[in-house]
Amino acid sequence: MKYVLLISILFVTFSVASSGATEITLNNIQKPDSAILFIVDGLGSSYFYPELTPYAIDESEISKALTRNLTSGTRLLDIRTPIPSTGQAHSVIVTGYSGANEEIVGYPDATIYDITRQHGFVNLAVMEKGDFQNLRDEQDIILFAQNNSIDKPLISIQANKAPSGIYELMYDWKMKLPEYLENRKGREKYSAYNKWGIDSANAVAVYMRKSHPSQRFLLTVNVGAIDSGGHNLGEDDYYLLIEDLDRDIYPLYTTARENNIALFFTADHGMSFATKNARRGGHASGKYAIKLESLKIPLVIMSQNTIPGVFNGEYREGDIAPTLLSVLDLPNSLQYADGKTINVKKYATIFVKADKEYSVSLWNGGQKVSESSGSELIFAGMPLNTNYTIKAVGADKTYEEKLFMDSDKLLKFDSGKGLDYRGIVAIILILFVIIGGILIIRKIKD
Ligand SMILES: [Zn+2]
Repeated sequence: MKYVLLISILFVTFSVASSGATEITLNNIQKPDSAILFIVDGLGSSYFYPELTPYAIDESEISKALTRNLTSGTRLLDIRTPIPSTGQAHSVIVTGYSGANEEIVGYPDATIYDITRQHGFVNLAVMEKGDFQNLRDEQDIILFAQNNSIDKPLISIQANKAPSGIYELMYDWKMKLPEYLENRKGREKYSAYNKWGIDSANAVAVYMRKSHPSQRFLLTVNVGAIDSGGHNLGEDDYYLLIEDLDRDIYPLYTTARENNIALFFTADHGMSFATKNARRGGHASGKYAIKLESLKIPLVIMSQNTIPGVFNGEYREGDIAPTLLSVLDLPNSLQYADGKTINVKKYATIFVKADKEYSVSLWNGGQKVSESSGSELIFAGMPLNTNYTIKAVGADKTYEEKLFMDSDKLLKFDSGKGLDYRGIVAIILILFVIIGGILIIRKIKD
């Protein structure tokens, strides 16, 4: 009984400490409701980007996939992972921090999932590879492979606060995997394993739009068999697996497009081969780890609010997290991120975060264009490369700042007068918990 009380006090503390943001949309812009982060394990962009040619370690030219779907949208030509190994690269993707590891993913406010949750999203995942305890714990529900075996796959579900019906749906999909793999071998079986991951994710997205239409979500997907195929089947099957993926992903693209879901298509790292027709590939160690084919990853974004076409700059895997947040009009308050937002969005957004309520107005060319009040405000839809002035009036402080909107802006107002009532309530509750804990420990000792 006391533990229940303790847990509920803790819960109250956190819900009091967090607050909802007010969103203001200007200029009739289109923005995505939800997002899918689709990570293809071990997919090097060198093997399918039209502008690139893959080479083996012996410098011979090797096979490249022909794809129709995988390159449409907003595409980043040169984006690289700092570390071509699965766990760390996934940690970089979700934290935006180039030095991230699996432990950091578990820290408060370290990941995109912390930010989406604070803004009312649910975090859902279907992952064949790349998941680990701290990443799974960030999800409201995850369908995941416990091992890396395509011959004897072990599928599991971890649920925290899943939207109703999702657990049952994921359980059905867990049970469907044997049908996909039955009577298949070699590359066919690897592709079927990927297709199962894609179809499961697609079913989750479709179900969410149908049964929980107003619930925003971030769905993380990892398909594992391109990486496994690169390692186990070799160079001549690797590019064919990419062509199979290009075919099998189409239904998910359609779901995303028709339901206003932003789709981020990327990889944790690429793959390298020693020679043409090499039977085994690698990416994480020795001569494999320094090859561009292992380091260059794709990033293709399909969203109504991004600028279509190819971006030519040099980008890093750590830029994915802040860019994903920007496309969703969420503030980049990632605690450890050193990645930068890539300006793929058709407009810019101002995020205001204050320690107490401010009345905030937005001015353009001497005209007031918007006004709202609150402690967290999101003004989305300013045309790019325009000048705005923001005025914020609080109980005891006033701010005025000129902004050139070449990208999203995050403004923090701090009145410097210590805590507001929410902070004080939070501290009182935390003290209650500590005192309660001490009393319980004493009782147990007695
Ligand atoms: Zn990997």
